[in-house]
This record gives sequence, structure tokens and C-alpha cells, in this order.
Amino acid sequence: MTDKKFPLTGISSVALHTMGHDNAEFAHITPIFATSTFTFDTAQQGMERFAGEDKSRVYSRWGNPTFTAAEETIAALEGFGLTDAQGDPLKLKAILHSSGQAAMTTMFMSTLKAGDTVLSHYSLYGGTHELFLKVMAEAGINTIIEDLRNLEAVEIALKKDPSIKLVHIETPANPTIQCVDIAAVTAIAKQFGLLVSVDNTFATPYLQQPFKYGVDFVFHSTTKFLNGHGTAIGGVLIGKDIELMKNKVWKWHVLLGGNSNPFDAFLLINGLKTLEIRMDRHCSNAVAVADYLSNHKSIAHVNYVGLPTHPDHATAMRQMKHPGAVMSFEVKGGLEAGKQFIDKLQMCVRAISLGTVDTLISHPASMSHKGVSAEERLKFGITDGLIRLSVGIENIADILNDFDQALQ
Ligand SMILES: *Cc1c(COP(=O)(O)O)cnc(C)c1O
Repeated sequence: MTDKKFPLTGISSVALHTMGHDNAEFAHITPIFATSTFTFDTAQQGMERFAGEDKSRVYSRWGNPTFTAAEETIAALEGFGLTDAQGDPLKLKAILHSSGQAAMTTMFMSTLKAGDTVLSHYSLYGGTHELFLKVMAEAGINTIIEDLRNLEAVEIALKKDPSIKLVHIETPANPTIQCVDIAAVTAIAKQFGLLVSVDNTFATPYLQQPFKYGVDFVFHSTTKFLNGHGTAIGGVLIGKDIELMKNKVWKWHVLLGGNSNPFDAFLLINGLKTLEIRMDRHCSNAVAVADYLSNHKSIAHVNYVGLPTHPDHATAMRQMKHPGAVMSFEVKGGLEAGKQFIDKLQMCVRAISLGTVDTLISHPASMSHKGVSAEERLKFGITDGLIRLSVGIENIADILNDFDQALQ
């Protein structure tokens, strides 16, 4: 990272200037280092790199300069303006992965072992829920799903089960947009000496910085808002225990093999540069859409934490700069009416995923959460008629016009 003579005051400056231009060819933009391996001048130099005495590159599964540029920028964004216990700027280490799922796998596998238990919230990203209950369960790692918004229930669960080693929070959670109080849950977890991880995908570091509340890990599917353009799958794991990140977590990452690739990392770096201005537009559009939907006679209900009617509105406003750009809603008439609405849209795009510059609409019960049992879906609030909306940066009048004609 380049040491600036004066502190940067905003995250666009951090996103654009964390990395300098100090490459051998004086390239302005971080090059795509499309190389699997790195050469040694002498056998001795190769030996020194392996011994960690020479910090230069070895092999791209272990790290690559294009990955480093994305990693250092994301770490700078997550830590922006935060300080450690000594009052010094908070140091973080990020490791880029091939997907959000890969980043999560590294995090759970490097911090848990057979016999350990994770405590997590209900209404999680479908892939996280399945990773817990299918993959990790077979490796002997158990999961307890609680409503983490109920702090009493969190405390009871932790008291009852000493095998719980990590509390995993996703907030806002997919697709109900429930919000968990990061500060309160982390404070309880720390009384029991537990690790806390936060999936910050929906909020991005612009809207929410979980490290402020003492969590250990933050994780993103960079596929979503961080890349922002829908051009690559990716994930990133960020940790504040630098020694743990450099040693065990990095080792597990390298051995599990979920590394990124230079082209996807380049696309991610490009996306990060406009994160703040994209988010501002995503968010202002989302407020207008939520306002429109919540006042429309054909809409049964809207889940958007920006609305004072959302049960987690107060929590969201405490820990987020803005309620974000993802919401879900139900059309009166349930699944059939919802399908008709989705099919009639002319501009908004029918696709899963979220956080792309264009507006995306999907049906969680049959798509992203198909792997979650019908009984669990209902308990989590994922009804069959629920539609998920990721509001894009189009001109707001066009989004509203599209909804207007589709709701006729
Ligand atoms: C998409 C997503 C993931 C998984 O990330 P991939 O990049 O698809 O592997 C995890 N958590 C949340 C909240 C997501 O939206």
C-alpha cells in the first residue's frame, strides 16, 4: 500500500489510490498478471522464496500481483477509518477466492474441526445454509440455527452448548432482509470467547463495517456489489488476526485450492473503483422503489429495512449508513400473481444474483433457496409468493414505469 502523506477522507479515494503504480513497466492500471508461476534467477533465490526470506512470488495458487491489488483495496475499504485497541489504524488481511462459497469454505474449515458447532441465523444465503447442513455436517461440524435477533436466545444457546466455536452473522440476510445487531451479538459471543464472522455481501463496506464491532472475519461474495457489473464470480475473506490469516487461514486456502484468477481479479478491481457512486445510486433508487411498492394496491407486503414498518429498521439504521438496495415483496394473489408480474417486466432482468448495475428480479423459493426445505423456508419467512429485487442504477422513472405496466 502507498503511504499517503495525509489521510484520505472518503472511500472513493481509498478505492482508487490504495494501490500505487509501482510496477516494472510503469503501467497506470494494475496489469492482468496472467501467469501460473514466477521465475527464480538462481536456485538459491528459489530456496529463499520458499523459506519466506524473500517475499517475492512463487506460484499463483499462493498469490498473484493482480489478486494482491484487489485484496489490499478491499482490506482498506473494510478498515477505512477504524482503529485497533491501541488507537492505530486497524490492520486487516484479505484473501481473494474463486467464489463466495470458496471464501466461506476456507473460513469455516480453517477455524473449525469435527465436533465443533457454528451458531448462525435463519434466513441465510441458500448456499451458506446448504454448506452448513450438507457439507460441514458430513465433516462432523454441526450447525445450530437460531433467530440471532433474539439476544436472549443467543445467550441461552451459547450457555447450553460449549461446542459452539463460531457465530456466523449475515446481515442484511437473504432474502428476507432481516438484520442482526452485530455489536450486541458480538459482545455476547466475546463473553464466551468465540469467533464471529459476518457476511457483508448485501451491505458492502460502504454501508456497513463489521470490524467496528470487534468481529474476527468479514466475508463477501464479490460477485455482487463489489464487482458490480456481473462479469465474474468471486469471493473474499478478510481477517484482523494478521498472524492467523497469514499462517493457518492462508495455508488452508492454498490447500483447498479456491484461488481466484488474474482476469476476474482485474474485473473486480475495476468494479471497486466506482463502488461509492454506484451504491449511492442503487440506494436512492431502492428507496423510491420501496416507497412505490409499499403504496401500491396490488402489493401485499414489502421487506425493505428502510421502511419503518420493517421489524429490523432500528437495528439497520444503527449499523448501516443506508438500508441498501435489495428488497423482497409479495404480490397480492401469491405465487401465480407474482409469476405473472415477473413475466410482464420489459426492462428489469429475470435472473438470480444481485448487486449488478442493472435491476435483477428472482423467485427465492424456486431458485436461490430451492435447496432449503419447504418447512424451513416457511419458518424463515421465505414464502412461495416472495419475489427478490436487486435495484439497479437505471434512471428511476424507467424502473417505476416497468413496474407500473407489469402490475396492471
Ligand atoms: C452470492 C452470495 C454468496 C455466495 O457467493 P458466490 O460468489 O455465489 O459463491 C454468499 N452470501 C451471500 C449473501 C450471497 O449473496
